[in-house]
Amino acid sequence: MMNLKDLVRPNVWEMKPYSSARDEFHRSASVFLDANENPYNEPYNRYPDPLQWELKDRIAELKDVDRRSIFLGNGSDEPIDLLIRAFCDPAVDCIVSIAPTYGMYEVAANVNDVEFRKVTLSKDFALNADKVLDEVDEWVKIIFLCSPNNPTGNSLDRNEIYKIIENFEGLVVLDEAYIDFSSEPSFLPELAKFSNLVILQTMSKAWGAAGLRLGMAFASPEIIGILNKIKYPYNVNMLTQQHALEMLNNETEMLKQLRSILSERIRMQEALEAVPIIHKVYPTDANFFLVEVSKADIVYNRLVRKGVIVRNRNNVTLCQGCLRITVGTPEENDALLEALNSNS
Ligand SMILES: *Cc1c(COP(=O)(O)O)cnc(C)c1O
Repeated sequence: MMNLKDLVRPNVWEMKPYSSARDEFHRSASVFLDANENPYNEPYNRYPDPLQWELKDRIAELKDVDRRSIFLGNGSDEPIDLLIRAFCDPAVDCIVSIAPTYGMYEVAANVNDVEFRKVTLSKDFALNADKVLDEVDEWVKIIFLCSPNNPTGNSLDRNEIYKIIENFEGLVVLDEAYIDFSSEPSFLPELAKFSNLVILQTMSKAWGAAGLRLGMAFASPEIIGILNKIKYPYNVNMLTQQHALEMLNNETEMLKQLRSILSERIRMQEALEAVPIIHKVYPTDANFFLVEVSKADIVYNRLVRKGVIVRNRNNVTLCQGCLRITVGTPEENDALLEALNSNS
């Protein structure tokens, strides 16, 4: 990677973060008269820990990473936006990503007036590192990859991912939102080897807590420090911190749910392949299927009328005729199959 200082926007590099009253979270103190809080209405009267150390310690233990290599945000969407804001000068710098992929990278680029270059995957949704690297010039600061990819469901080839990390001088952001469903290992153990690697994970999928809004970014302590500098001081509220910690302390429950989802995924693969209007069920490493049907808009609307909502991806690059279907409970999956198999 090039020098971090050369990669970060100069204004961000130079700035001092807002120093909040509760920055030095004095655990031993008992009288808090520093933050203009109401002294009543415990515990919500207090500002939450701005750096969420208790939660990070648990995540560090679960994921076997250094606590200083963790950033927590209001969903993964927060670190996606912060990375672009920290590293890309509006109307000057660019990011490169793949197509199709998760829509938020492009939205965050647009919000920040940062050019978004897309490299179309192959017909079977494979990544070609050389094609991505061909888009790189001096203005490209970040490459966004997503594996397993959304909406395609496949994992990107590891060697192609390595090739990009090793040959690009800027940041490579690897979104692993679906990694818990995957047969491929996470890139987290590689973090120490690559100073330009940022890995995103989330509580929103396997951990079953999309409503809590807790996203995780893993990177070198230097990169995490830059994100901490520009985030809102209290970006993860107290209820989210507390409840997420409870959930992370009960990994057994998550693993039980994960097993159920994975066994339904196996059942649904066959069941979907047997549905006459489905021409193709793409292989998946995630908790959803991309399926190709003859008339996607019509099938989609028919499912809506029957009260079954899936995601219509008909207008997405390489996904013409495709619907994206999440693996639900056995009952929900049966309802989907019944709706797909009925002719009315
Ligand atoms: C669902 C999803 C996320 C999760 O976003 P949150 O803001 O953490 O809920 C991130 N990346 C991808 C690719 C996703 O599909």
